[in-house]
Amino acid sequence: MPAAELSTTQPQSPASLPVLIVGAGISGLLLAQHLSALSVPFVLLERDASPATDRGAGWGLTLNWSLPALRELLPPALAARLPETYVDRALTVKKSPRFPFYDLATGEMKGCGPVLEPERVVRVSRRRLRDLLATGLEVGWGREVLSFAEEEEECVVAHLVGGGTVVGKLMVACDGAHSRIRQALLPHAENHLIPVGAMGLRMEHDPEQVKSLRALDPFFLHGTSSVNNSFAYFSLLETPDDPGNERGKYIVQLVVSWPLVEGFLGRPTVTTIPDTNRARLTLIRAIAQTWADPFRQIALELPENTEVKPILLDDWPPPRDFQTTGRIALMGDAMHPMAMYRGEGANHAIVDVKEFSEHVLPSLRQDLPSSENLRGLFHRYNAAVVERARPGVLASRRACIDAHDWVRVGSPEVPSPLLTPRIMRLRFDEGS
Ligand SMILES: Cc1cc2nc3c(=O)[nH]c(=O)nc-3n(C[C@H](O)[C@H](O)[C@H](O)COP(=O)(O)OP(=O)(O)OC[C@H]3O[C@@H](n4cnc5c(N)ncnc54)[C@H](O)[C@@H]3O)c2cc1C
Repeated sequence: MPAAELSTTQPQSPASLPVLIVGAGISGLLLAQHLSALSVPFVLLERDASPATDRGAGWGLTLNWSLPALRELLPPALAARLPETYVDRALTVKKSPRFPFYDLATGEMKGCGPVLEPERVVRVSRRRLRDLLATGLEVGWGREVLSFAEEEEECVVAHLVGGGTVVGKLMVACDGAHSRIRQALLPHAENHLIPVGAMGLRMEHDPEQVKSLRALDPFFLHGTSSVNNSFAYFSLLETPDDPGNERGKYIVQLVVSWPLVEGFLGRPTVTTIPDTNRARLTLIRAIAQTWADPFRQIALELPENTEVKPILLDDWPPPRDFQTTGRIALMGDAMHPMAMYRGEGANHAIVDVKEFSEHVLPSLRQDLPSSENLRGLFHRYNAAVVERARPGVLASRRACIDAHDWVRVGSPEVPSPLLTPRIMRLRFDEGS
């Protein structure tokens, strides 16, 4: 069944009410696809006015250990179209990215991932993945949820910005790292700020300009400077052959980050993210001056009109005994926002959907579970997600901090999670 009608009046029996999904990002759209395939009615409410709304520069995602779950949850026709989301479709079917790690100050390669069969690890464009996941769904674009209320323990009502309400039998909050629903449930649970400044931008290159970078790795490479602990990654977003790439250029994302400490770049005070675009570009150039080629040259050639976006680095490890209340579940970044230094947030979001499908959906397909039964189902779902994602959040925080500490990231005794293998059920020593 497609998404239920968006309506302010829904004269339905509680059992036939839809599942309310808040947020049409990776987890919300995948959950909607799965519910649609199972004929479970849902309403998908999204803050963005349209699929084209670009909240950020758009970024690449590494999908690895979540790929089996993603392929299983999607209808076969959409799973077969996953290659459309690859950042380099022609190359991905032949080889997987290896994520070489460099000393940015010398240009020396310090580490590299294993050679894997093609398509076991893929780099996808988040924008194209989102477009694919939205295929055939009725998305409530421009329907931002302001607040919610539970009524007589039988339903939940979402109140929308600008007026209007939508009623559901339960609500799954897929509303991202700064989830309004999580804030309402846990008003004192603030995200943890990581003491690292970060900015991102998109670069357009002719094939010749990007040759030196692609020779190092055609998909993704990263590095830390042994001289000043600045960090950068270069990530391919599009090739000239991609449909819609009208200018016929390679599009590469550059993310630059640095420790928020006194003395960085010889400055006496902490270097925070500048307020103006011009000053952000100037800071990136000042940092790139300290790198070796080709990293230095590529960053110094950035055109004056390059838009530089600040990236907030914060996270929230869900407590070990974490439980939501009432008819509300959290999913994806809403439940476990993490820094992107291990590139696992979307992988967790995808496996959340699978665990929701295993623990909660079988009962939803039958009747309206009582609040008590629903709590039991959510309890199992929450416990499974926390056990998997909490170590992921903490390891990602450690990876982010290590990425700006050359001594730690290079330590052979204590391997940094920046460089250790990506696995679904990670063991992370919380004392480290
Ligand atoms: C630069 C960068 C690189 C990354 N690289 C990787 C990587 O390589 N691999 C990886 O696995 N992960 C990576 N991630 C993390 C990944 O992008 C996220 O973990 C993933 O997108 C989370 O999906 P989600 O569905 O939980 O949230 P999102 O995809 O953020 O979607 C949330 C949605 O909710 C909507 N929304 C918010 N509030 C409301 C509201 N009140 N009402 C209605 N809608 C609302 C938003 O508009 C948005 O569409 C990266 C992140 C960044 C920033």
